[in-house]
Amino acid sequence: METELFIGGKWVPASSGNRFDVLDPATGDVIATVADGGESDAIAAVDAAAEAGPAWAATPPRVRGEALRKAWELMTERADDLAKLISLENGKALTDAKGEVTYAAEFFRWFAEEAVRGAGEFATAPSGANRILVTRQPVGVCVLVTPWNFPAAMATRKIGPALAAGCTVVLKPASDTPLTALAMAAILAEAGVPSGVVNVLPSRSSGKTVGRMLKDPRVRKLSFTGSTEVGRLLLAQAAEGVVNTSMELGGNAPFLVFADADLDAAIEGAMIAKMRNGGEACTAANRFYVESSVAADFSQRLAARMSQLRVGPGTDESTQVGPLVNEDTVAKVDSLVRGALEAGAKAETGGSRPEGNGFYYPPTVLTGVAPDAPILREEIFGPVAPIVTFTSEDEAVRLANDTEYGLVAYVYTGDLARGLRVSEHIEAGMVGLNRGLVSDPAAPFGGVKQSGIGREGGHEGLLEYLESKYIAVNW
Ligand code: NAD
Repeated sequence: METELFIGGKWVPASSGNRFDVLDPATGDVIATVADGGESDAIAAVDAAAEAGPAWAATPPRVRGEALRKAWELMTERADDLAKLISLENGKALTDAKGEVTYAAEFFRWFAEEAVRGAGEFATAPSGANRILVTRQPVGVCVLVTPWNFPAAMATRKIGPALAAGCTVVLKPASDTPLTALAMAAILAEAGVPSGVVNVLPSRSSGKTVGRMLKDPRVRKLSFTGSTEVGRLLLAQAAEGVVNTSMELGGNAPFLVFADADLDAAIEGAMIAKMRNGGEACTAANRFYVESSVAADFSQRLAARMSQLRVGPGTDESTQVGPLVNEDTVAKVDSLVRGALEAGAKAETGGSRPEGNGFYYPPTVLTGVAPDAPILREEIFGPVAPIVTFTSEDEAVRLANDTEYGLVAYVYTGDLARGLRVSEHIEAGMVGLNRGLVSDPAAPFGGVKQSGIGREGGHEGLLEYLESKYIAVNW
């Protein structure tokens, strides 16, 4: 497969000639070396996107949509190969990788359909003196920055709406997982997306390359998915040129289980909310709050299910939990768990890092976690479920909201009115009500508080890439 930069429809080496290694998280071995884009390559990519912009914006929405639909078909046909590639560079289990390919491809199909829905408005001004015409125009050249945890889906969730809206893009994938993004570029080109509309710039010096692009006045939009820490830095940089931003940042999802919940369903939901992608998801349940009368039952059943999961190389068909993406991630999970244990928590299963190669961490359930433990405040990003008890609805909501994040929350209860009431009071952009999975290309995904700004997916996802232009028409 191609491992160069993809600029202006061509595979090109970095102008510096530099390359960097991509590792297999299961072994730590090098699986590929990829061209390492620098600042001059970043400008070349912006040149290509800017040059392709006017023709792509003028391409009929139906035609733009058809290219995205073709890309959905190609991804679906090649799902097995793409899943292997994701698993190889990210480490996730093949079942998770296949799920990601379906989810990722669906953004192309959804936005193929949305491409024709960028409608404007026409109204009589209240004074009657004129008419108000509102049209929607593509924002322009977009810089898209994506993380390693969903290397396909985080890219298609941005490229899909950007292309549907008539924007051109430069995608900067995470350096741990650039191969999937390069494969996406090849698929989009094959689907008929013209040269320069999508450019992909792997780069190890992302601070410099993204920073350089944000200084270029032709860049009108930054869509970022990643940590709150980096998001904050980029918001400050985008402020200089008043660049339009969408920010999908970190999460610290609470998972609430009330005593009236169907516990079987709550365990199933917990397994998905915690273990999808091995816990390496911004939507991962990070803190479990369980009503005290059912807490022991819930904890034991969750620990039993977690302990049965098969851990191994992601590319092995029988694996249910792959390795984490890199050494830093395992070290962070390990230190959060050790901190919780030292402060008095008990490991119902798992709880320590295994010996040997690869970035593995076992599925872990912790009970008796101190309310101020860092594991309840920081994103764990691994297969660890800390459990805390509560005794009233008010306390559950207070605990759930005791975080600077606000991406997603999960609520399990048999009382629909309570479920809706708690959903209203929880400070999060999304709530899973008796459901452990919220991600859906047809729905607006995004957070409040320090989890971000803007929404991806649904109709809102398209609007993020469109500007309203108001024309006052004399009448
Ligand atoms: P990260 O913030 O370290 O990196 C994200 C991307 O930003 C990568 O492409 C990285 O190379 C780039 N980057 C890093 N430093 C940069 C800088 N100074 N300037 C410009 N670009 C820079 O995040 P990560 O470790 O790759 O991903 C995990 C994080 O992503 C978690 O916090 C997770 O919650 C978050 N995430 C959020 C969502 C969401 O939709 N809200 C989805 C997936 C992941």
